[in-house]
Amino acid sequence: MDFLKRTWAEIDLDHLAFNVKQIQKCLPKDTRMMGVVKADAYGHGDRYIAKEMENLGLQNFGVSNLEEALSLRESGVESDILILGVTPASAVQKLSDYHITQTVYSLEYAQKLSDAAVRTGVRVDCHIKLDTGMGRIGFHAGDDYIATEQIISAYRLPNLDFTGIFSHFSSSDDISNEGIAYTKKQKEHFDQTVAALEQKGLYFKVKHLQNSAGVLNYRSCHYDLARVGIILYGLPLDTLPDCDIPLKPVMSIRSAVSMIKTVQKGDCISYSRRFTADKEMRLATVPIGYADGYLRAFADKGRMIVRGQYAKIVGSICMDQLMLDVTDIPGVQAGDVVTVVGSEGSCQVTLGELAGIAGTIHYELACLVSRRVPRIYQ
Ligand code: PLP
Repeated sequence: MDFLKRTWAEIDLDHLAFNVKQIQKCLPKDTRMMGVVKADAYGHGDRYIAKEMENLGLQNFGVSNLEEALSLRESGVESDILILGVTPASAVQKLSDYHITQTVYSLEYAQKLSDAAVRTGVRVDCHIKLDTGMGRIGFHAGDDYIATEQIISAYRLPNLDFTGIFSHFSSSDDISNEGIAYTKKQKEHFDQTVAALEQKGLYFKVKHLQNSAGVLNYRSCHYDLARVGIILYGLPLDTLPDCDIPLKPVMSIRSAVSMIKTVQKGDCISYSRRFTADKEMRLATVPIGYADGYLRAFADKGRMIVRGQYAKIVGSICMDQLMLDVTDIPGVQAGDVVTVVGSEGSCQVTLGELAGIAGTIHYELACLVSRRVPRIYQ
């Protein structure tokens, strides 16, 4: 396969299966795992990953929008799909035809969705979203005020079937005392609001609150579903003592040396002469750059693995290429495989390490691996 000679992402399905097993051990028997596969399954390829998760027994998926939901249906996913974000009310027919569940986060939105459903003559399955402290979308559910009346009004609108209710933790990976207190407060708001609604006669078949960090750090907090994203892909999070679980990274990124050269003291490398050789050096050019999602911000501290040894990046990262210092690695040749993210021998480069260099989080880097990097499922 010729594309193997440029840059590719290996998606390890055994690692995915391993992670699913480990996470299931954290959940009580009657709590199902929702695989969060938005943003192309965090860059891993949603169609393939969701099908594989279905084979592993998952029956619920979370996506961010209608296009993502339809893409799963087209690839043959038959399980429940919940859109976690907004869908235009004009799309009610598609929601209904493809049995996709829509998040309802305000009375105004519920009204629009209901009006469109009545006009079109369809029914739409919905989950109520509560804002218990994330401040993003949702009916307000805090200490000061709970939007109970609005939720009841939404619930009673025609042609909407409210089968679930949920909220989202903002800080379940924050293991400081403040973070823990905030998460507990969110759980309290959720429980109180659901109880108040149930008292008024509203019934929800499924309730869900936890994300990945919620599953790891708040084991006693469990509902019918747990919405799990990042840890399915084997990307670790900060955990409270004894809450860590073994995880295996699902994605590795590899490339292959395109050219080897010797440069002399004083030679300048890459855009803006960012690096000047202070001695004779051997450099390897590697065909990966920021258009592949390998950020320019990695330049000064980034490293890759060649022939089982770390090699540092020298000079600016270009759109499609970059240079590595392989002076101290004997025998490097054009065609040698380069591990950009992943393990080789005793060396390892993680998305977490790169995120630290770029001042971001591994979630963002996984999503940024661009479409031109072929995913190889193995
Ligand atoms: N639920 C909602 C509403 C989300 O927005 C996300 C991701 O951002 C998740 C669940 C999954 O979060 P995580 O990847 O931290 O498990």
